[in-house]
Amino acid sequence: MSISRGNLPYEKGALEPFISGRTVDYHYGKHHAAYEANANKLLDGTDMQNDPIETILQKIVDDPSQAVLFNNVAQVWNHTFYWNCLKPRGGGHPQGRFAELVDDAFDGFESFLEQFHTIAMGVFGSGYAWIVMPRDRIEITITANADTPIARGIKTLFTIDLWEHAYYLDYKNRRADYLEAVLKNLANWDFVNSRLE
Ligand code: MN
Repeated sequence: MSISRGNLPYEKGALEPFISGRTVDYHYGKHHAAYEANANKLLDGTDMQNDPIETILQKIVDDPSQAVLFNNVAQVWNHTFYWNCLKPRGGGHPQGRFAELVDDAFDGFESFLEQFHTIAMGVFGSGYAWIVMPRDRIEITITANADTPIARGIKTLFTIDLWEHAYYLDYKNRRADYLEAVLKNLANWDFVNSRLE
């Protein structure tokens, strides 16, 4: 086993009522597990099998013949990152360095939240919304399908999974409600600050 999805940082039911234990059970226990199993099967016996995930992704991001490997490896990383971006009793106003960076780049935290929501709702089909820091300021961006900023060496601070499997059992097609619930109640701004240390 060369790459690992790691353990969930909390119990499966810990994000309720905003994300159900049933959703986490499927999302972590089936989807995330399958990406990990597929990635390791594809990596087995290749010269990348002992590389860190970031290195693998950066090596193959522009090689269409490696798209299946890229997608599975990226999904292992993206999901582990997503679980860490959430916590029970999260949300609220950030503190520390992240709060300063929000004020540098946006007209206050409420404006930042509104822009994150608007940009995230621009994901067409499956993908992720991100807070990234390509230089000395934070930015909001989106990626499609399994794509991830780390494949191009961009520093990532936060993500929300916007694939239907992340919210359909709890919210059906109401992506905006899921997004708002996560931003207001589960977003782990302490984790974002830890990425800035
Ligand atoms: Mn997902």
